[in-house]
Amino acid sequence: MHADLAEQAAEARRLDAADPLAAYRDRFLPAEGVVAYLDGNSLGRPLRAAAERVARFVHEDWGTRLIRGWDEGWIDLSQQLGDRIGRLALGAAPGQVVVADSTTVLLYKLARAAVDHALTRGRREIVLDTDNFPTDRYVAEGIAAERGAVLRWIPADPAAGVTPEQVAAVVGPGTALVVLSHVAYRSGFLADGPEITRIVHDAGAPVLWDLSHSAGSVPVDLDGWGADLAVGCSYKYLGGGPGAPAFGYLATRHQGVLAQPVQGWFGHRAPFEMGPGHEPAPDVRALLSGTPPVFATVPLQAGLDLLDEVGIDAVRAKSVALTGFALRVADALLVPHGVRVASPRDPRRRGGHVTLCRADFADVNDRLWKRGVIGDFRAPDGIRLGLAPLSTSFAEVLAGMTALAEEL
Ligand SMILES: *Cc1c(COP(=O)(O)O)cnc(C)c1O
Repeated sequence: MHADLAEQAAEARRLDAADPLAAYRDRFLPAEGVVAYLDGNSLGRPLRAAAERVARFVHEDWGTRLIRGWDEGWIDLSQQLGDRIGRLALGAAPGQVVVADSTTVLLYKLARAAVDHALTRGRREIVLDTDNFPTDRYVAEGIAAERGAVLRWIPADPAAGVTPEQVAAVVGPGTALVVLSHVAYRSGFLADGPEITRIVHDAGAPVLWDLSHSAGSVPVDLDGWGADLAVGCSYKYLGGGPGAPAFGYLATRHQGVLAQPVQGWFGHRAPFEMGPGHEPAPDVRALLSGTPPVFATVPLQAGLDLLDEVGIDAVRAKSVALTGFALRVADALLVPHGVRVASPRDPRRRGGHVTLCRADFADVNDRLWKRGVIGDFRAPDGIRLGLAPLSTSFAEVLAGMTALAEEL
């Protein structure tokens, strides 16, 4: 093990020295006592610029502009930030993305809109996979109960994800909507977005992509895929901070056609007419319900500035290098001790995190947290290492995984 470790340490030094993004780590606030933060896919680290922006917002924007801030820009912030996320991370032209609510709530609004529309055409099946993120499954279950739709399950391999062949086998004239994650939250499997979208469209139905583990990590090309609907978190790779609002994408061709169920004044054609009945906005603003979460988007704006500076392709290149390195370290130090790799080896099918499994990993993860090595445990037996490219070095990955090896 010592020879292996020396070899891995040399590789980590070489990779860090050659890393064009290495200097960006200093943009993040230091975290005392943390040896390795390997959970940037669940909650990104705060940028120094986020702290400055929050203070400035309280003192200047909110503090001095007061209610005038709404007229000076806050009113349009949901769409403005949506356009920015669309351009930097989603491959979406302006006018199709908003920032609002939580991922769960936006998922509900978009899925309900699509299912309601499909029911008028006699389509009743919501297709989803058994390993999709819990909230996606629960929301679909709720909509099915509420609207008399039925769930059609794709049995997904928890160490991989949903393939185009599996989707092709279940979609057809009864399909109302397909709900899938682009990057699987457990295995990190990267689904074939364009091919699956094409297959579902051939069956006459739309797809709702959950991009929570893709946005800011894996380039997405929603317009290029001909995508319909998408949602995702801003607090993972986009750095929005705990509970920051989500983003939702509604392709232009579906606007004015699909109607979301939480019809509030901000989604009205003319909110300040304060008229008697609801008339939905003809554009993507119809996705909004109430007052936009302005304050909660302040750290996100710092995250988007950084992504703008670096570019998603450079982020992805480092992400592939980090996960590839983590898998080599796992093979050298962990697999000999009975650890199983539960993530794709092919980088074209892998997102930004890797999952390693062993029966005792719940306990092992508790011990790692006490040592300042922060990954996360996913039942039944997985430790998930989320390697946020802008804030994580190769040496940090090795430090965390060496600690893991010691705990075995
Ligand atoms: C993290 C995550 C969510 C979280 O949704 P919230 O409404 O923010 O709690 C949803 N879907 C996926 C795939 C996720 O990874």
